Parts: sequence; C-alpha cells; structure tokens
Amino acid sequence: MEKLVALCKRRGFIYPGSEIYGGLQGTWDYGPLGAILKQNIKQEWWKSMVQERSDVVGVDAAIMMNPTVWKASGHLEAFTDPLVECMICHSRFRADKKEEIETHEETHKGESVEWTEPKKFNLLVEAKLGVIEGEKQTVYLRGEITQGAFVNFENVVSSTRVKIPFGVAQIGKAFRNEITPGNFTYRSREFEQMELEYFIEPSDKEGDKWFDYWKDQRMNWYVDLGFDKKKLRFRKHEDSERAHYAKFAEDIEYEAPFGWSEFEGIHHRGDWDLSRHKLQYVGEDGQKFTPWVIEASGGVDRSLLFFLIDSYREDEKRVWLSLNPKLAPYKVAVFPLLANKPELVKRAKRIYEDLKPHFMTAWDDRGNIGKRYLSQDEAGTPWCVTVDFQTLEDSTVTIRDRDTGKQDRFKADSLQSYFLKKLS
Ligand code: ATP
Repeated sequence: MEKLVALCKRRGFIYPGSEIYGGLQGTWDYGPLGAILKQNIKQEWWKSMVQERSDVVGVDAAIMMNPTVWKASGHLEAFTDPLVECMICHSRFRADKKEEIETHEETHKGESVEWTEPKKFNLLVEAKLGVIEGEKQTVYLRGEITQGAFVNFENVVSSTRVKIPFGVAQIGKAFRNEITPGNFTYRSREFEQMELEYFIEPSDKEGDKWFDYWKDQRMNWYVDLGFDKKKLRFRKHEDSERAHYAKFAEDIEYEAPFGWSEFEGIHHRGDWDLSRHKLQYVGEDGQKFTPWVIEASGGVDRSLLFFLIDSYREDEKRVWLSLNPKLAPYKVAVFPLLANKPELVKRAKRIYEDLKPHFMTAWDDRGNIGKRYLSQDEAGTPWCVTVDFQTLEDSTVTIRDRDTGKQDRFKADSLQSYFLKKLS
C-alpha cells in the first residue's frame, strides 16, 4: 500500500484533499492521471450498463433532495453504524470493525482498555440550505445515490418506453460521516457510486433469477476489465449486517493488502423503497403492483483503488501498472528519440497531433528515452511510439509494449487503425 500511495502522489493519480491546509480527513483529490482513470471506469460502466442494453436507462439526480426522501427511505432512522469510544484517549471506532479495535488496543499496550457501550451514529451528512439565518433548511447530502432513481420512478416510466423488467442506472457522488475513514481512499467521507436499480415483477422466482443474473454480470465486468479472478469473491451478508432495506445481499470483495474488502454490493431490496415512497407500476393488464428491486451498487473510488492495486507490477528494473488499455489514462505516448534533432521532433509532433483527437496521447521529450519509458510505465500507458532516424528513411516507428517491454517497427501512417483495433 505504501508503494502504491507514493506512486499515486508522484504520478498524479490521487492527492490528499486540501493538502496545503493540512488536509480534510476522509477526502481525496484526483490528479491529472487519476481524473482520467476515473472517467474511463465510469465510461466503461455506463457503456455496459446503459449503452449496450435496451432495458436500462440512465438518470443524473440532484445530490440534495427534499429531506422527506430520507425519512421515507428509512435512512434518518436506520442509516447508522455502531460507534464505541476508547475511554483512555476518546478515539472513536465502529464497534463492528473488530480488527480496527484490536489495532487500537495495541497502541495502549500494558493498559486495560475500556470501551463505551455501542451508540447508534447516523451517517448522513447535514447541510444548511437558504439565505436567511434562522430560516435555513437542514438538508442531507445523499448518503447513497440510490434514492434519486426511486423518486424518479414515475417520471422515467412515463417519459420513456421502459417496461418491467427494466433498470435505472446512475453515477454520482455520495457522502457519509464515516466514523473511521481510512485505508487510503477505501473509506472516504465523499465518494462516488455507480448503481443500477433493476425493477422486476414481485415474485421469489423473479427475485432469485435476477439476483443471480446481476451477480454474474457484475463479477464478469470486473474480470473482463482485467482483475485477477483469484483475488475476487462473493460474500453473503449475515442477517445481522444486512442494511435495513435489504431482503438479502452479497458483496463482491477484493483481496486487498488490508484484507478481503467489499467494493460492490448486490442487494435484493424487495419492495422496500417503492412502497415507502408509495410508488406503483401499472402492468400490461392494467393491474397495479409494487415492483421489487435488485440493486448493483459499486464504488467508483474503491474499484479505482483496486484496479490500481491489482495492476501494480515491479521487477528489479521498473514499476509498471498493467491496466487494461481501455482504462489506462493515456493510451499512447509519442517521443522523438533525441530532443535536439529538429527533424525527429517535427515528425514526432506530427504523429502526436494526428493521434490526439482519437486517443489520450502523451508527449515527452525530456531526458533520455529510457527514463521516458519508465515514466509512462508508472502511468500505465500501454504503448510508446518512438520516432528515430529510420523513421525519416522508411516512415516506420517503434511501438513499445508496456507489459513485455518489447519493441516492434510499424508503419507510421497506420498507427491510428492499429491502436483502434487494439482498443476494440
Ligand atoms: P461498508 O460496509 O464498507 O461501510 P457499505 O456496505 O455501507 O460499505 P454500501 O452502502 O453497500 O456500502 O455502498 C455501496 C458501495 O459504495 C460500496 O460497495 C462501496 O464501493 C461504496 N462505498 C460505500 N461507502 C464508501 C466509503 N465510505 N468510501 C468509499 N466508497 C464507499
């Protein structure tokens, strides 16, 4: 983890939030490479969940909602974690995170640590809306993006041609007053979710069928994007840990350096939400009923972190990120072999300008070529194109592959189609 956190800072993937003012616990800023990686993850998700399907539409709901939403959804009452306080130093922890509690007790070696009784702590972040002091309305920054899909259920049904079974997909920010943010971006107070709410007929048969279907779809999506299968698993929620809305739930977990950790939840929400919001669907036969919901709720930040961890490679010579090219922030980097030879620079610049409208393309003419390769390896750039003296004679360039370090010569005027094919 230490190596990865350092690489993220060094290369501009992730910085601590508000760093020059001492930071703000549980917040992170994505740098130039991290911002693109995040976009790419979201784009791939949207492509597979919305673009490639005919039964899913997307929404982008407001972060601030009428507070009644959170009353109806049960979050004001039940969106809580159990909090305990160390009676020696008053540090607070989640009572259900045994490992964190044990680690803390280690810091008081030799003393007997006593804890307060677990208290319910609501995770919703409050904000004040309005301009007149004393008349400001308390609103909540959404604790899950989910409710935006439910409150627009009728709007979506009446403004599109969806018919049950159908899904509403959304990507956006969520906020939680996490008691103990930590493990880098894994537990943040501001984070992004990518979620599907899939509405089905209310029957156990349909519920089981679609729950299994979405479990498979979501696991395959991660595997297709390059995750090491052995490091992924499903974990069923025990009755005691299930969220207030869930009939049953399974997490997709990754074996992180800090242990098996959830980064997506597949939840059977039954009719909890729609019935709480008093929303119904009119079937083909004119019958009204309350659909059930299967949810796939993934974290953008957690999957980004795990994509980085999973693709981190090192040997005695170099460090590289073997990210799937679809996710890699830059697809190609273009270099002139020598920066002080104007004819090489001119030719390389032309190739760079030609590729730029089609792919995120990096340019580098600093230092020696070896250092430039190492720098692109750390950024996860799959291909480096170098213009050398042979280019001036026969219009071929070298393409270096990030994972193998091997170079092949290739025609300069076919680069665009070559990379397009690789990325398809
Ligand atoms: P945990 O048990 O780790 O607190 P959760 O079960 O409360 O997570 P869900 O409410 O199911 O999480 O949220 C769905 C997804 O949103 C999670 O799988 C995760 O990827 C993401 N997520 C939730 N909380 C956070 C957080 N504090 N920081 C980053 N991502 C989060």
